[in-house]
Amino acid sequence: MHKKYLPLTLVLVALLALLAATGYRAMTRTAPTIGLAAEKQIYLTFDDGPSTVVTGQILDTLKAENVKATFFIVSDRVKGREDTLRRAAREGHTLGVHSANHVYTQIYASEEAFLHDVEECASVIERVAGVKPNVYRFPGGGGQNRGAYADLLKQRGYRVVAWNAVCGDEEIPRASAETLLRESVDTARGKQPVVLLMHDSAAHRETAAALPEIIAYFKGQGYVFCKY
Ligand SMILES: [Zn+2]
Repeated sequence: MHKKYLPLTLVLVALLALLAATGYRAMTRTAPTIGLAAEKQIYLTFDDGPSTVVTGQILDTLKAENVKATFFIVSDRVKGREDTLRRAAREGHTLGVHSANHVYTQIYASEEAFLHDVEECASVIERVAGVKPNVYRFPGGGGQNRGAYADLLKQRGYRVVAWNAVCGDEEIPRASAETLLRESVDTARGKQPVVLLMHDSAAHRETAAALPEIIAYFKGQGYVFCKY
């Protein structure tokens, strides 16, 4: 290289270095934003409890795994299981309203009947566990007047919580824990956030048995566990 061109070459090298540095900074600035947007979230939700054995076993697993969940309560099932309900609240889980008795013909008989059912369930939760619920899940999905009932709930400060994935403990007869894990994984695919429907009433021992594996799977996939 001729000596005459050396200053020009140095300028060009300096310019390239500056461009490379600027480009590098731009990349590092955007990377964390992409990471946050892609955070995977799952809400574990349990309907129809409390029960003695199943809810107790589920609470043991959640405690061991340090995972919080949301329980939608049937208040007629609280009698004799007050300690279980109190334990769920004390260990940081959210208690929501599901109904007083889960009898659709009574719950959805009229708007007055519907509101009476909600208030009865909420008052039992508040009296026993000392927390005022502000989330609600429709028994049986809500029926034909779901929209009108949802409006009544919103007016009273409730957030209505649906689901977009199921473990299959109500949908698949006599499902094994292995099947419940597989159904959870299959129905959660592509959902963000995942809201997983499960049941903790007395018959659902397989749900309690499947829970450690379900939590392990979603932890392994990098999900963050959320409650309402
Ligand atoms: Zn239910």
